[in-house]
Amino acid sequence: MANNYNRVELSSKSFSSNLDFFNEIISDDVVISIVIKSNAYGHGIREIAEMAIRYGVEYYCVFSLEEALILREMKITEPILVLGYIPPEKLITAIENDIRITVYNIETLRAVALAQGKCTTENLVHIHLKLETGTNRFGFSKAQVQEIVHMMPTDESIIIEGVFTHFANIEDTTDHTYAMKQLGNFNEMIMIIEKYHGNIPIKHCACSAAILLFPDSGFSMVRLGISLYGLWPSKETYLSCILRHGREKIDKALTPIICWKSIVAQIKEISKGEYIGYGCTYRTTRESKIAVIPTGYSDGYDRLASGRGYVLIRGERAPVRGRVCMNLMMVDVSDISDAHVGDEVVLLGKQKGEVISAEDIASWTETINYEVVTRISRHLPREIVI
Ligand SMILES: *Cc1c(COP(=O)(O)O)cnc(C)c1O
Repeated sequence: MANNYNRVELSSKSFSSNLDFFNEIISDDVVISIVIKSNAYGHGIREIAEMAIRYGVEYYCVFSLEEALILREMKITEPILVLGYIPPEKLITAIENDIRITVYNIETLRAVALAQGKCTTENLVHIHLKLETGTNRFGFSKAQVQEIVHMMPTDESIIIEGVFTHFANIEDTTDHTYAMKQLGNFNEMIMIIEKYHGNIPIKHCACSAAILLFPDSGFSMVRLGISLYGLWPSKETYLSCILRHGREKIDKALTPIICWKSIVAQIKEISKGEYIGYGCTYRTTRESKIAVIPTGYSDGYDRLASGRGYVLIRGERAPVRGRVCMNLMMVDVSDISDAHVGDEVVLLGKQKGEVISAEDIASWTETINYEVVTRISRHLPREIVI
């Protein structure tokens, strides 16, 4: 059962302003596809899709067929590309729902051809070839590309709509030599494919960091992930962008759209020398006022924030005391004199003038902003706000 005290708010205004920014920096003939895999990076796939429909997004990328089918169920008729693995027995469903399929090895190509033969509908299959350029994840090597160009059915029942690759080292560095090497490999492989098949309409390689760093290198489509949600791919990308475009422009560029809220369920006054929570890891050094909050690691609030993190109450930072529990956590409100039961708690986002960013939580929990938002439980209710 959903509750409404532990919830995620999504700002439609920030969603639009982030997309406006990307529309402004890339050229008009480049399509922005939005990446809404993993429950839209934890934000909520249905809510993000709803805002995307209103905005007029033209192309969607997801990881799984299940996610693609959610979008079709929401009556999205725009192209949807599954970037990830589809079990061979599900390929028919993918084709019947006109889902673009990523083909990354010869076996997948054979399986797609087989599935199409079994389809009851006459649907053409649109595939995107994933090319291996140096990340060593999914993808065809150059030698395999030379092989598959001869394997494509001649009746054009399978259409190579796109070719793409993914950078290994673009957000984690300010030295983009490796990315440029990958780009060179990508171009070489495209030439091999186009020599046999003519122009491939959609070529794409840019994730958020690449769009931000090299807005002109977008080919015909970009894949906007983390920065759609108003988050920077990394500190390196942020700093490189400031050097290139100036702080003023960059600080206004992206706005996080998520705000994760909970509530103060109980406040207790405890004396000096008392312990708080499992393992008695925290002991008060003074008379303290402790607030109990009904959010815990089962909701996606990382247990590594125990004794390290902060939440916002009445616009002020309250430190997490003791261990984060499965469904509860305790914070110190001794210095927030007007804190009351029923007060709104902000775990991630803004409250009055104060902010807790995904990067703050990432630093407390030894991870990256991507993981912080993606792990917010899908069971929490989402609400679109202005
Ligand atoms: C997740 C993903 C993206 C988006 O990357 P961001 O850094 O979030 O913009 C792009 N391409 C592929 C293949 C992905 O898996």
